[in-house]
Amino acid sequence: MTDIIQLLPDNIANQIAAGEVIQRPSSAVKELLENAVDAGATEIKLIITDSGKASVTVIDNGKGMSETDARMAFERHATSKISNIEDLFRIKTMGFRGEALASIAAVAQVELKTKQSTETLGTFIEIENSRVLKQEACAAPNGTSISMKNLFFNVPARRNFLKSDTVEFHHIEDTFIHVAIAHPEVSFKLLHNEEVHYNLQSTNLKRRITDVLGKNAENRIFPIACETDIVTIEGYIGKPETAKKTRGNQQFYVNTRFFKSSYFNHAIQTAFEGLIPDKTHPIYFIFLTVDPSRIDVNIHPTKTEIKFEEERFIYSILHSTIRESLGKFNLTPSLDFELETAFDLPAGFEKKPVVEPTIKVDPNFNPFQPFEKPKIHQGSSSSDRGVDPKYQNARPQDWAAFYAINEEPEAPVLMESALSLNLDDLVMVGKYAICSYPNNALLIDTKRAAERVL
Ligand code: ADP
Ligand code: MG
Repeated sequence: MTDIIQLLPDNIANQIAAGEVIQRPSSAVKELLENAVDAGATEIKLIITDSGKASVTVIDNGKGMSETDARMAFERHATSKISNIEDLFRIKTMGFRGEALASIAAVAQVELKTKQSTETLGTFIEIENSRVLKQEACAAPNGTSISMKNLFFNVPARRNFLKSDTVEFHHIEDTFIHVAIAHPEVSFKLLHNEEVHYNLQSTNLKRRITDVLGKNAENRIFPIACETDIVTIEGYIGKPETAKKTRGNQQFYVNTRFFKSSYFNHAIQTAFEGLIPDKTHPIYFIFLTVDPSRIDVNIHPTKTEIKFEEERFIYSILHSTIRESLGKFNLTPSLDFELETAFDLPAGFEKKPVVEPTIKVDPNFNPFQPFEKPKIHQGSSSSDRGVDPKYQNARPQDWAAFYAINEEPEAPVLMESALSLNLDDLVMVGKYAICSYPNNALLIDTKRAAERVL
């Protein structure tokens, strides 16, 4: 019998290993951005061409590498971040597996320029197919710049798996956003085919999220916070009306690492139950801080799946924190401080005698009885004018109070009652419609009413 087992050459072994870590341009983007963050950079620039298929460059102003480290960085299992197995459970850095640069260099053409601030010269390395083509001293700014060109140039089968430029750019954008939101103190820039897509200045979490979400985002999200011995939860969630049919902007982070979790997503989705329509998804950016020894980050090569020791406890805390915040920030009527605060005085009030207001108390009122909504009929008889007899004598201020308590959801009900009025009674004055209403007049701002109904 002849022996048939042989050791694979390094470049083939690296190419196979790369299959787990680098699936598409955005995987390389994630690894390079995270390396820049781990290097303590305060400014990170991502420059891509043709959705990363032609090139991906990450430039940082971090601590840089020595000449030997620059060469070592491309070896498989070469890392400065852990040195023994216990370190795996004290992880504070984004990387630790020491395989990203080795993988990238196995499936792309790579150029590295790096310089430490204590040195006058930096190091330049050109590497492709896991082979170093050039290494020399060079002038360079402090920090590191890594360019990856022609991803999968030597693995055509995998290059064929890449999707359209639009799809690949989307993946890159998502990855960029995940890293940028996790590190608001770092400024990030993204250029695609020489066009600036993001230019995010160093800031706080809320600003970073709103910078990413775009205009008016500040009024569409509100904070959540909860601290327990096991987990600290912070972050922002979108108001119910911002829920979308698609699942964009649903982000979990643990110890500043983005991760995916359908289990925790369920905790949030159910917390929103009854507040958002079926099959819509709320926006959230949730940051969990837990003792690194209580999670396992190393269950997936891309580290986007995390195992939590107290998964069920965190689920419940998350659920109740969101419920509480929804109650606190969403259901209480919002106060608009920009409105004129002076009282509205009725016309001709000076001539009227001052009457001391009387307070009527309803002895049968029971605060523990659920509030019954006014029932609106579709005006069958002209006498009731479409209003439940119970509310025949309702005064406009009752409606106003009712409207204020139930602002968004009940406004259409009020409108519905207005719409059920006899249209012959309706008089248009500019943008207002005026009509008689049981014992009163109803003034409708038609534009706002139409908006509310919609
Ligand atoms: P890991 O991040 O898991 O350690 P990588 O292959 O991504 O593995 O990187 C290998 C090593 O190269 C890192 O541990 C780090 O010491 C060094 N390195 C990589 N990128 C940078 C960078 N941008 N700045 C400074 N050092 C870097
Ligand atoms: Mg890394």
